[in-house]
Amino acid sequence: MIGKKAYSLAKQLWPINRSITGEGVRQTLKIIKTIIPDLKIFEVKSGTKAFDWEVPLEWSVKDAWIKDPSGEKICEFKKNNLHLVGYSTPIHRMLSKNELLKNLHSIPSMPNAIPYITSYYKKNWGFCISEKQKKKLKKGQYEVFIDSKLFKGSLTYGELLIKGQSKKEIFLSTYICHPSMANDQISGICVTTFLSDWILKYSNRKYSYRIIFIPETIGSIVYLSKNLIKMKKNILAGFNITCVGDEKNYSYLPSKNGNTISDSISKHVIQHIDSNYLHFNWSDRGSDERQYCSPNIDLPVASLMRSKYNYYKEYHTSLDNLKNVVTPKGLQGGYDLIRLAIQALEKNCYPKTKIYGEPFMSKRNFFPDIKKLSHKDKTSAKGGRRHYSNIKDKDEYYHLSMDIISLSDGKNSLLDIANFCKVPIWNLYPIVDILYKNKIIYLLKDPKK
Ligand code: ZN
Repeated sequence: MIGKKAYSLAKQLWPINRSITGEGVRQTLKIIKTIIPDLKIFEVKSGTKAFDWEVPLEWSVKDAWIKDPSGEKICEFKKNNLHLVGYSTPIHRMLSKNELLKNLHSIPSMPNAIPYITSYYKKNWGFCISEKQKKKLKKGQYEVFIDSKLFKGSLTYGELLIKGQSKKEIFLSTYICHPSMANDQISGICVTTFLSDWILKYSNRKYSYRIIFIPETIGSIVYLSKNLIKMKKNILAGFNITCVGDEKNYSYLPSKNGNTISDSISKHVIQHIDSNYLHFNWSDRGSDERQYCSPNIDLPVASLMRSKYNYYKEYHTSLDNLKNVVTPKGLQGGYDLIRLAIQALEKNCYPKTKIYGEPFMSKRNFFPDIKKLSHKDKTSAKGGRRHYSNIKDKDEYYHLSMDIISLSDGKNSLLDIANFCKVPIWNLYPIVDILYKNKIIYLLKDPKK
């Protein structure tokens, strides 16, 4: 079970203090490399220009805490890295409660949650605290201590390139810049790591793969600025992988115009996994698809998720954890969702028959175990299409095979055929194999004009 393996990787990655730069990113990539040793790690110096942006100073932090008037330590970074605002500048001072409150963040509507706050591009410091704890703060002087450093270092990212028969690429991107949070952070890393492992073992890969582990926003911008020409030339389809670890929803966010092959594959796969999936639109974007689909870049990148960022209550708080939100079963679902989409891209083709008229099936010994087909026709009385519910049923298997043959004109893709038959594309794979082996159809890479 990949879900269990992904979950134990999640536990390993959990305590690391990740940010857009720094040791947390390096440690995370090192752990991923134990599972995918071919992962290459890159460092891009602070100050490097990337389109309209610049790689920021590197941030490192050793310790941070507040001492209340009775000398008790609160908001300890070492106990929960969310207590410290990301990219906080160093400070060691005594402050009144009122002064301290200006730099304290909490969520009044979620009294037990510590929020996740960063200040990457504006020099600032701050602590995050649960509303419940904030309300208990006594009057008096507070000692504030942040042992952090901002210095000319680098931004770190990981890249895995996997060769296939074609130079055309499938692109996977996930981010590695959030501290200890489960669905919005660790799930994406774990699912992408095990998908990489699965792709490496996938025999007869048609496509090449470009898989990146980057800090969100600045990382995708830096990566694009270094690789855009190759990416524009080769990327056929892509997925931004985030929020793939809980058990509540399945969600789809389209690419900007929603009309790429990544979109048609995503919609097909997700509707057959969960007919009640949540269909978002481009205005709900919020992750690296913002860069991948931006004007002048326009890559075919869609997002397949479980509960989407911003749309579950634990999002960006300490409550997004490995106990209540992300589970092995949730990770398995997220992994299967994207694995099935990639497999559909690999298996998609344009079946074509050379036979004129329907093939004479009886002479082919094609359905050796079907002695007599019954006539229970499941076509609805309204004249709707046949409803396939169980392809193990001999009738259905036969009719589905005949549907495939009748649509095998070299113009319909396997995905079109699956959509016409209203079955998951993966139900067609074994039938297509048999039709191909029996020389009833052959398979074209591109549609016949
Ligand atoms: Zn986030």
